[in-house]
Amino acid sequence: MQIASTISQARALFDVLPRPLGFVPTMGALHEGHLALVRRARADSVAVAASVFVNPLQFAPSEDYTRYPRDAQGDQAKLAQAGVDVLFAPSPASMYPPDFSTSIDTGPIGDVFEGAIRPGHFRGVATVVSKLVNIVRPDALYLGQKDAQQTAVLRRMVRDLEIPINVVIVQTEREADGLAMSSRNAYLSPEQREAAPSLHHALQAVRLAMAGGRSKADAIAAARARLHPLAQLDYIDVVDANTFNPIETLSPPAFVIGAARFGTTRLLDNLWIE
Ligand code: AMP
Repeated sequence: MQIASTISQARALFDVLPRPLGFVPTMGALHEGHLALVRRARADSVAVAASVFVNPLQFAPSEDYTRYPRDAQGDQAKLAQAGVDVLFAPSPASMYPPDFSTSIDTGPIGDVFEGAIRPGHFRGVATVVSKLVNIVRPDALYLGQKDAQQTAVLRRMVRDLEIPINVVIVQTEREADGLAMSSRNAYLSPEQREAAPSLHHALQAVRLAMAGGRSKADAIAAARARLHPLAQLDYIDVVDANTFNPIETLSPPAFVIGAARFGTTRLLDNLWIE
């Protein structure tokens, strides 16, 4: 695996990679969920690129940017083992020089749910992904369904701006007890870790109740009761998968989405309704 830490090094390497080229952007602290994206890219592509970049633009000043888990050595070993050809791991200063000032407005789809709780988050995500895609120039972009709203925002950006790449969404990797894998799971205390799968169980309860004919309001009320007392729910809802507008029935394509805090750690999860 070759490693590029500057944009010019990256361009030189990406220019000569055989095609099709699959690209997996990440913020590092890699787990099996990230590696599922790499494996899918490996299966679909002739060459595979990954990036590890904790993007300051997508964190609010009050959020966990500085304490976000980082493991450069471990990440490199995992990516090399998974068959990545080129790793792009730039510094924040090289991505964002002092006079950097352009960003992407994702519109209403980026202002609801995660975007309402984390103002500016999707602006930061869309801006870094478009910059990364312009550097890597892949044929396909691999994203995890785990971040469902992010997939909707980025698919919309690719469509609206005519970015010539294929977006591939990979299903969520989970721990044995149902908890969606996440770099932030490392923050959980043992008690919080035990409570965390209840978010997944609550989403399953919504799907089951609505599939059985109960109204969304009833189903969500029942699901709230499934949540562990340590969970503080931010939201639970059923949305159209393309627009993220709330819907009253489980008509596909849709997501049952949820976010909850366990102490200071916020976890997201969703179920794909197809
Ligand atoms: P992150 O490093 O959290 O920015 O995630 C990088 C990519 O990995 C994103 O496309 C995520 O949606 C994806 N991802 C994160 N967790 C999982 C998971 N448990 N299963 C599948 N993909 C995931």
